[in-house]
Amino acid sequence: MSTPFVVAIDGPAGAGKSSVSKQLARNLDFALVDTGAIYRCVALAAREQGVPLDDDAELKRLLDTLTIAFEMSEEENHVFLDGRDVSQAIRTPENSLAASQVSSRPVVRAGLLGLQRRLGLSSPHGAILEGRDIGTVVFPDAQAKFFLEANPEIRARRRHRELLGKGVEKPFDEILAEQNRRDQDDREREVAPLKPAADAVVLDSSTMPLSQVVSTMENRIRQLMGTSKA
Ligand code: C5P
Repeated sequence: MSTPFVVAIDGPAGAGKSSVSKQLARNLDFALVDTGAIYRCVALAAREQGVPLDDDAELKRLLDTLTIAFEMSEEENHVFLDGRDVSQAIRTPENSLAASQVSSRPVVRAGLLGLQRRLGLSSPHGAILEGRDIGTVVFPDAQAKFFLEANPEIRARRRHRELLGKGVEKPFDEILAEQNRRDQDDREREVAPLKPAADAVVLDSSTMPLSQVVSTMENRIRQLMGTSKA
């Protein structure tokens, strides 16, 4: 039995990973695993249960009790925490910062490795995993690896527009400052910092429309799939 084809897409917040991954998963009929959503679920559960975000023993206990699952419906990738659809609740600004905090705890990263690997290998065709350390830690042997970046102002502007679309008014400067803080935390943490894998193809969505990012990635994946079948 051949192993599923794993695609790693890493990069900072707002570079377009989610849109690109969703489109690619659809085009290739691959599973989609949003690993940021997994860290966000842990942060939400910790906040709801009053677990301090730096209490490793309590975080470990919490991780052992959580069930996190994904379900693709229509255009949306829904996330379930213990059976509850938390797709919206995990995306508040407070929870984004909390996710970044819990994700710096080695106990949390280690505790989520198995789940990410299981989800990545659960589809018969293949899977797209998007995150920060997929190509470096979760699937260092992924058949295709990409690192998607974009300049900070462009990423924050996208986020600003996205929030306005949801009726949330938040000053651009605040969004940029929060994003910079999260980037810095993700890049400077000791375990699994955000960085391109040595063998990742680096793409910049500041200079390339997302449709072109998708077609560039898809062409490469299809080429590699052809090669790997030979
Ligand atoms: O991708 P998203 O913004 O939803 O991720 C939320 C947070 O989860 C990130 O800021 C990052 O700290 C953390 N994360 C991570 N490793 C991943 C995915 C996300 O540390 N593979």
